[in-house]
Amino acid sequence: MSFDTLGLSDNILSAIAAAGFEKPTPIQEQAIPHALKGRDVLGIAQTGTGKTAAFTLPMLNRLEKGRARARMPRTLILEPTRELAAQVEQSFEIIGQNHKLNLALLIGGVSFADQNKILDRGADVLIATPGRLLDHIERGKLLLTGVEILVIDEADRMLDMGFIPDVERICKLIPFTRQTLFFSATMPTEIQRLVDTFLHNPVRVEVAPPATAASTVEQRIVTAPKEAPDKRALLRDVIRGEADLTNGIVFCNRKRDVDIVDKSLRKHGFNAACLHGDMDQRSRMKTLDQFKSGEIALLVASDVAARGLDIPNVSHVLNYDVPIHAEDYIHRIGRTGRAGRSGKTIMLATRADKKYVDAISQMTGISIAHEAGKTGDKFDNAEKPRAKSAGKRPGQSNQRKVASAPPSIDAPAPPRNRTKAESDSEYPSPDIGGKRPRGRPDGENSRKVVGLGDHMPAFLARPVRPGTK
Ligand code: ADP
Ligand code: MG
Repeated sequence: MSFDTLGLSDNILSAIAAAGFEKPTPIQEQAIPHALKGRDVLGIAQTGTGKTAAFTLPMLNRLEKGRARARMPRTLILEPTRELAAQVEQSFEIIGQNHKLNLALLIGGVSFADQNKILDRGADVLIATPGRLLDHIERGKLLLTGVEILVIDEADRMLDMGFIPDVERICKLIPFTRQTLFFSATMPTEIQRLVDTFLHNPVRVEVAPPATAASTVEQRIVTAPKEAPDKRALLRDVIRGEADLTNGIVFCNRKRDVDIVDKSLRKHGFNAACLHGDMDQRSRMKTLDQFKSGEIALLVASDVAARGLDIPNVSHVLNYDVPIHAEDYIHRIGRTGRAGRSGKTIMLATRADKKYVDAISQMTGISIAHEAGKTGDKFDNAEKPRAKSAGKRPGQSNQRKVASAPPSIDAPAPPRNRTKAESDSEYPSPDIGGKRPRGRPDGENSRKVVGLGDHMPAFLARPVRPGTK
């Protein structure tokens, strides 16, 4: 299969060739023809398999006809984090090199003035995080009534409790006749239910069952001690033990721990830096650039770096903490093993993490063997002394490459009550109070925490029909 058969224009085909793409990835091959026909699409494919071009290419095709008017963008892409929005803008620039398109990136943490100028010229493509987009709308700088295509990337994340009020507000401002494209690597069943309210008669293109980890990532779990200094010592042991570790992202669940682990690694001579949502945007971008260029080898990060970031050649993802939401595991480890490359991931898990580890195994359908860290004892042996360790001699490694079992879409999902305050996407930090002043001058970071607050998402008011997806 080549790109020629998908129905894209010659102009686009030459841009694809210039970008160095030889043939479409499975999600591109399957989603693009439907999107070109104007159908709504729900596209599900593993991390790092080219979902971005699966929506940017058909968007380009549509944008070849017609022109944007001032403050009335023609297409809109919503992303959960600023860095991901900026990355999608860059990939749009590459793929749109033969088209004179006006792209507008609307993200928080940067000045409104430059963004306004671009909007005034008329944007063909708006790439935004929801908070800053709503800020522009509230300031009367933006009308969504001309939007022909709406893309929601990382769709399950954008429909969970933290983002849904904003996403609903935005969708109500876009004409019903729009085309809507949703993409993600994960789609928990309870979020799937919501998808149907945003898409009109969609084609579901599923390259792999949702929550399938990229097959190019080798996964391991090391049992960790509970005490933080010991756990940090284990992290150092693990890093030192990986001869092929060239660079890596170390994920922590809490921003506070991101800082602590980063400082500790640097103190012990590692070339590390941190990335989380409480940092100013300039530092966030600078750190990410330094990591991309290889100036920094270890990026200690919150889940703000978990979704979508496409950094080639990340050799390792290290989970210092077990993620509480199982799908975050898929996204975190998906920062390595991208575009067919291989990658490794190691997760430190204490015994107290067992239920989260089980949820991950259940969701991914993969049972990952535990190995004892130097300072930890064996996790699964401690829980199930006979069943798991039968036949093993003392000291024999329990490590193995994971065996893929077919993941079940119906696996019980972990509780989904993630709020803006809990998560580190473009949300306010609970540490700074989370109250959003009127007018939201600072964009997302000053947005009010929506527990449910003063906005009741419409989906909560809808009766649940048993037997539907
Ligand atoms: P996803 O959104 O599925 O996680 P991305 O869209 O970020 O994945 O793409 C991952 C990487 O694969 C990017 O570096 C992108 O340039 C590259 N890529 C995308 N499509 C192709 C293709 N058809 N051939 C080769 N590389 C591709
Ligand atoms: Mg993506």
